[in-house]
Amino acid sequence: MGLFSRNKPKIKVESTKKDGFSGWVKCTHCNEMIHANEIEQNEHCCPKCDYHYRLTATQRIELMADEGSFVEFFTEFKPLDPLKFVDTESYAKRLKIAQEKSGRDEGVMVGTCTIKGMRVALGVLDFSFMAGSMGSVVGERLTSIIEYALDESLPVVIVSASGGARMQESILSLMQMAKTSAALAKLSEKKIPYISVLTNPTTGGVTASFASLGDIIIAEPDALIGFAGPRVVEQTIGQKLPPKAQKSEFLLEKGMIDCIVNRHELKERLFLLLDFLMDNDRTYGLQELINIPEEEYAGNRSTNSD
Ligand SMILES: [Zn+2]
Repeated sequence: MGLFSRNKPKIKVESTKKDGFSGWVKCTHCNEMIHANEIEQNEHCCPKCDYHYRLTATQRIELMADEGSFVEFFTEFKPLDPLKFVDTESYAKRLKIAQEKSGRDEGVMVGTCTIKGMRVALGVLDFSFMAGSMGSVVGERLTSIIEYALDESLPVVIVSASGGARMQESILSLMQMAKTSAALAKLSEKKIPYISVLTNPTTGGVTASFASLGDIIIAEPDALIGFAGPRVVEQTIGQKLPPKAQKSEFLLEKGMIDCIVNRHELKERLFLLLDFLMDNDRTYGLQELINIPEEEYAGNRSTNSD
């Protein structure tokens, strides 16, 4: 979980006045000074370099779901500490701190919503809660929403942002990999589509299970996606990795993911893909949809695309 702290894309606040926030922040990617409101209004992307900053689960749902359509399910599953795990801190205490800091009870939100009017089962991991790590509750909530989708014949979308399995739950967290994968296999048997959206960062047991099992795998630009982090891989194989080896663009080139979709286009693209996969309207072919040039569907938006 600590693997990504070095490159953590935080928006650093530069206060010009001693007391308080001037509103200006420095983009950690391009170093430009930008007003915080501008980033917020730009779906948390840098207006200068388009760097995609991390979103909380709530912000992600606001971005993707039709307004007010999201209903959260399975909140009755709450985290426990069956192993009474202690590292430098007890797991019970870590959970409590994470809950207070994030204002969330666990690292995932699942439920149903509509995307441009289409009903969808949605799961969104929240990196701000113990690095979006997958413990028993994350696994159980995801499995439950997949099984719900199976019963209701709803397409599934899961957005990942995770440091991997939650080490404080040891084998119990690893078992979630098999459980979520088995549920998705049932979905696949019933020919119900599942789209996996990978955001920065998606790693470890999450990459090695449900995040890589999408019928279509979408990534946000410049997201770190891998199993072990780059430093661990380099130590293990005794070689330097090629530059950007675990970034979306490299993975697209190598065929690990299907497409990279800019956050501003994500909702529209999800709708088009789901609509296609649910066999409602086939004005496009699937390859066309995956490789759709940005200008083309940007023209369908209300904003001016010139
Ligand atoms: Zn920037």
